Amino acid sequence: MSDKSPVLLWLRRDLRLSDHPALTAAVESGRSVIPVFILDPQCETLGAAPKFRLGLGLEHFGKTLEQRGSRLILRRGDALTELRKLVDETGAGAVFWTRQYDPDAIKRDTATKEALREQGVEARSFGGHLMFEPWTVETKTGGYYKVYTPFWRAVKTRDVEAPLAAPSTMNPPQSWPASDALEDWRMAAAMRRGADVLRPYVQLGEEAAQNRLAVFLGEKVDKYNTTRDLPGVDGTSCLSENLALGEISPHQCWHAGQRALHEGKGDAEVFLKELVWREFAYHLMHHTPRILTENWREEWQAFDWNEDERRAEVKAWKQGRTGIPFVDAAMREMYVTGRMHNRGRMIVASYLTKHLLCHWRIGQKWFEDCLIDWDPAANAMGWQWSAGSGPDATPYFRVFNPVTQLDKFDKNRDYTGRWIAEGMQDPSDTALSYFDAIPQSWPMAADDLYPDPVVDVADGRKRALHAYENRGF
Ligand code: FAD
Repeated sequence: MSDKSPVLLWLRRDLRLSDHPALTAAVESGRSVIPVFILDPQCETLGAAPKFRLGLGLEHFGKTLEQRGSRLILRRGDALTELRKLVDETGAGAVFWTRQYDPDAIKRDTATKEALREQGVEARSFGGHLMFEPWTVETKTGGYYKVYTPFWRAVKTRDVEAPLAAPSTMNPPQSWPASDALEDWRMAAAMRRGADVLRPYVQLGEEAAQNRLAVFLGEKVDKYNTTRDLPGVDGTSCLSENLALGEISPHQCWHAGQRALHEGKGDAEVFLKELVWREFAYHLMHHTPRILTENWREEWQAFDWNEDERRAEVKAWKQGRTGIPFVDAAMREMYVTGRMHNRGRMIVASYLTKHLLCHWRIGQKWFEDCLIDWDPAANAMGWQWSAGSGPDATPYFRVFNPVTQLDKFDKNRDYTGRWIAEGMQDPSDTALSYFDAIPQSWPMAADDLYPDPVVDVADGRKRALHAYENRGF
């Protein structure tokens, strides 16, 4: 391979130009750069909303590259097979990518690296998705952190690499390899009619993400510590959607947050802490990948979770018709917008796992299908935290009361008014739009009466506590 051979930049969850170490290294090598995205089996099996959002992200990033005289080459199939084909077709001598951390990605990437190197192709992975590589944060005894606060203390004064500028130019290859057409991948297929309803809520790409960050730090961060808990208020950054696909890097968020803190915006520290919750989730997934599939606390393996998804209560939960306004509003918010306020996530997760005693995996899977900000580590940690089976979890006997929580966090009913139509004299457009998004087979209509609770809140709590007692916890 000559030094002038192109570099394949294998993109995954890093759809940005700035602060992209793998891209910067490819450009600085002085060789031509061929950006590639491969719809491999791991991407094929994404849930409906994350796949839809990925399709939109790829379309947008492809255009961004074209404005720079580059292109995004799309291929479908096994990642190694497709990369090998591209090496043959283009004479590429190197493949660079940004690391991912879930066990399936690690397995694929390790095998890919070995196989490419064996055939004499330089294969290099780079950081960028996280500020702190999970294996670099250790307790004094050399172990990993199981509790957030000491993890925060361990990293809060660490240097976080300054974000890299976007490369000013990217050398194109002498000729471009063939690319699939994105439309042929039908990334929105599983969304059905929900796609058109959700689309206006999406904020695509690097520029939009940077804008979100600037608006958040300019206008919202001052009151973040209070407003971030109020689902009826637009008080958070909403950056999870962009972080999930790497349209912005955590480093960029961190440095901007630090600047805000130094300018005297005290609540910026809370934002930095939230960014570290994301890192903590990855730390846990790295050290205990079972967090994705098994009860993280071993004693919970004996717990008799209800795993039957066909139960009427589970259907009512998914469809936002449990008769508990906070739960239903949050589930509908997710179905319409692809996002759910963090308070909502905690409430619906507690309700499913405690009031309904259902396995957290049912909820984890449903979120995986519905969230445009779906993130394997944050989702698993959030579910296990809520269920009580995870690290640093809410105590299992703490059962959120979704009625008193509503009084506390949505006093004026802004949130429920936004998402629930039944029983309202003049339902909001957002609440009505839910009925345009849902499958027509769901047994509900905007002019129905609002349903009675599927489980009485007090009875559900008692039932949960009784089940915990019988487990001998
Ligand atoms: P902000 O309040 O503006 O926070 C800034 C960033 O910090 C977020 O974008 C996110 O990257 C990170 N962050 C904040 N809170 C958390 C947290 N608790 N855990 C990890 N990172 C956090 N987050 C996801 O990104 N994807 C998921 O799939 C996901 N699933 C969840 C499931 C459950 C059951 C629960 C309880 C939480 C889940 N979260 C998930 C965490 C959290 O709800 C979202 O990150 C947050 O609501 C995103 O909104 P924001 O970007 O406005 O956050």
